[in-house]
Amino acid sequence: MENWLTKRARLSPKQTALVYQGQKYTFQEVAQKARQLAKRLVSLGITQDSPVAILGFNSRTTYFNLLALQQLGARLIFLNPRLDQTTLQTQVQQSQAKWCLVDRPELASLVSTSSQLTLVTSAMLAQLPVQAYTPADVQLEAVASLMYTSGSTGKPKGVLQTYGNHWASAMNTLLNFQVTQADAWLCVVPLFHISGFSILLRSLIYGIPIYLEKQFDPQRCHKLLVQEAITIMSVVPTMLKELLRVNPQKQTYNSQFRLMFLGGGPLDAGTLKQCQQQGIPTIQSYGMTETCSNVVALKPQDAARKLGSSGQALFSNQIRIAQANVQGQGEIQVQSPALTPGYWQQPELFVRQLTADGWFKTGDVGYLDPEGFLYVQGRLDEMFISGGENIFPNQIENVYQTYPGIQEIAVTDQTDSKWGAVPIAYYVGEATLTDIQLREFGRQHLAHYQVPVEFRHVQHLPHTASGKLQKSHLKELAFQVLSH
Ligand code: ATP
Ligand code: MG
Repeated sequence: MENWLTKRARLSPKQTALVYQGQKYTFQEVAQKARQLAKRLVSLGITQDSPVAILGFNSRTTYFNLLALQQLGARLIFLNPRLDQTTLQTQVQQSQAKWCLVDRPELASLVSTSSQLTLVTSAMLAQLPVQAYTPADVQLEAVASLMYTSGSTGKPKGVLQTYGNHWASAMNTLLNFQVTQADAWLCVVPLFHISGFSILLRSLIYGIPIYLEKQFDPQRCHKLLVQEAITIMSVVPTMLKELLRVNPQKQTYNSQFRLMFLGGGPLDAGTLKQCQQQGIPTIQSYGMTETCSNVVALKPQDAARKLGSSGQALFSNQIRIAQANVQGQGEIQVQSPALTPGYWQQPELFVRQLTADGWFKTGDVGYLDPEGFLYVQGRLDEMFISGGENIFPNQIENVYQTYPGIQEIAVTDQTDSKWGAVPIAYYVGEATLTDIQLREFGRQHLAHYQVPVEFRHVQHLPHTASGKLQKSHLKELAFQVLSH
């Protein structure tokens, strides 16, 4: 295939490609700017398959750097600037990045100790000589990007994503959402995650504008959704809750707005209902870095009747539930052309996640309803058994997350002589809440075995750099709380 940006700029030169801080760029303008940058990057020795790290937040610089590197066919290595220095330096080494493009100079210190790494700031780039190059074609089997998982369950894994993976993912989303050139996608999720990067690629492939935001500012996003012709927005559950919170008047979004696309984790039923009442069309989805964004998503027309479901497998994907119990619950397994060919330098880890017949074991648990709609219940390694019942901590957390006075809650298991294990909770919030109040609330909304036997008030809970609860660190927290 021809280079995606080059092709798009030829097909729809005058169409808006990017809106950033109120400034609009057409595909022609974007392509011109990316080409200028690419000409400078060539003089650094960057060519086809060169491993180049990108360290930056959502910004004009990051956006254009990504496209310039794609002009050259470089392998993009995404780094999350919110990670600590040690993790970042490990990722730089492990990924074998030779260059690192930063979007602001102060980020350089996060990765600077490695001697085989050339750090490139925008100011340095502007000084470089220009050199001609030929835009790299897209080879579907070639690795386009290396992206690290969120690290919810342990160390982040380096996921290889081919152009074919991205293409399959974009085609599936196109079919599912019936995207047209009248669409425009608001991107507040990070470009260094698959949620954000996939929007950038969809913009090129579909020929639609991306409204790129530096960060998630709920007031500002609300205004954009009301005033601009944005039709789709990708959000994680906490963002959606914030958007509802800043809109007490229940003001409706612009009339073209058609999809609030949720990913990254489960959303509680209360928030979903609230969206439904306010006429915000909310679409759940399920996916992971390894599947290049969503593998399963609801269709807009099913959103209301399948509340709580993540939807059906997208057109070229298949899902199945392995080793299901009598209720049909088991591990979710996936087959998809968007599935990664493996983890970078950890082939044995990937092999362990494949079944003998080539399906990918997601490590998540769920069930399918008679119409094939998936309900994701939680992670297999977080699930525990209490008196013979399966317990998924995230389901308990979702219920308590709606309790006034609780800011955030995390549930884990504690061994118990009678039941084998029982749920206990750690929460951030009002210290005056009592176990009796909290248990009473649980009894009204949960099965009795799901109600935590203890609630421990803490100052904060462990998070990954992408804001997800870091379950692997909860046990450490348990130890700290107990030893005080
Ligand atoms: P790591 O693999 O390093 O532990 P991670 O799995 O959180 O981190 P991501 O690839 O960012 O890294 O997240 C994918 C995971 O997010 C899924 O495997 C699943 O556990 C969770 N998830 C995604 N969508 C949903 C959903 N709709 N409902 C419940 N969980 C979801
Ligand atoms: Mg994972």
